[in-house]
Amino acid sequence: MSDYRKIDAQYYMPAFSRTMMIRRGKGCTVWDDDGNEYLDLVAGIAVCSTGHCHDDVVKAICRQAGELIHCSNLYYVPGQAEFAEKLAKVTNLSQVFFTNSGAEANEAALKLARLATKKTKAVSFIHGFHGRTLGSLAVTHKPGIREPFEPLEPKCSFVEYGDLEGLRAAVDTDTAAVLLEPIQGEAGIIIPPEGFVEGVREICDEKGALLIADEVQTGMGRTGTWLAMHQTKVMPDIVSLAKGLGSGFPVGAIVAREGLAFKKSEHGSTFAGGPLASAAGMATLHVIESLLPGIAAKGERFREGLARWNPRVCGLMIGITVGEKCPEVQERCAEKGIIVNCAADGNLRLVPPLIITEAEIDRATGVINEVLTEICS
Ligand SMILES: *Cc1c(COP(=O)(O)O)cnc(C)c1O
Repeated sequence: MSDYRKIDAQYYMPAFSRTMMIRRGKGCTVWDDDGNEYLDLVAGIAVCSTGHCHDDVVKAICRQAGELIHCSNLYYVPGQAEFAEKLAKVTNLSQVFFTNSGAEANEAALKLARLATKKTKAVSFIHGFHGRTLGSLAVTHKPGIREPFEPLEPKCSFVEYGDLEGLRAAVDTDTAAVLLEPIQGEAGIIIPPEGFVEGVREICDEKGALLIADEVQTGMGRTGTWLAMHQTKVMPDIVSLAKGLGSGFPVGAIVAREGLAFKKSEHGSTFAGGPLASAAGMATLHVIESLLPGIAAKGERFREGLARWNPRVCGLMIGITVGEKCPEVQERCAEKGIIVNCAADGNLRLVPPLIITEAEIDRATGVINEVLTEICS
């Protein structure tokens, strides 16, 4: 067997820290390089929403790969229009632009907001995450990953998540857009106070700024509705999507309300919305559609199973404040065959495949209870 650790150390830039290789996956189960089996509650960070290698997704990708892999957006792309139609309908918004990632979706959203408002500044939230490209990084809060790259555009002010008065003070007549995660994901599954999202909408309307909902992590059924915004009384002007949209095939998108769209030559992409992305995305939407009615109950089963740790739950986004022992919890869970993730600030994050069964949830909560009891009490 190839000594990939050594080769990786020599030839791959050490931007990530990792210990194991995941070799194979099926449903909610993955196998590492030594053949150990795990129940995967991370799912590629909320990406493998239909589980690993769902038959319908594999078939759609393979069928399309045998017919046409790429053709450029110079031409109509097979499957792209139908995928856009489906995405507009399920989000209840109007028109789509495809991207290859979440960061790129936010780039597109920021460009569109600047065109539409003729303003340049942005406002976003403390502990928020929107991506690593220069524009998406400019609106990402974490100083450690942002500051080395300053100065960045757009100019951005950061407001405490949940603080409407702070937001009202920060949004001014030069603000093109407010970027909002309806639930903060990378921060560790932080659910905002009741009425917060509605308040953000109101302030945007007062000041003439657009509301961009970054649903890269919360979107596509993760919270029990197609968008997390669908659980509020308001809608965004633009929503950005990626992670769960293609079951692991790189697919991102923005969807905007009526009247808000790029015109000829205002944006572009070589790969985005290609034949394989469209096939994987469309197959994913069909699978999620059938899972959607059951997701809230699955989340509640996690809530009951983990009740003594006071979990934050919205559909299949689950966060538990663990503190500095979080990495130890992650490691011990892996030893017991469960993959979990430490997000920011010692918050344990569970974002399992949406296909997870009751039996798998019970197994997961059993192990997590054991480990938390062992390490944290
Ligand atoms: C992961 C994430 C992104 C970035 O997506 P990439 O595909 O890694 O560029 C942006 N916003 C949110 C809310 C995310 O969770």
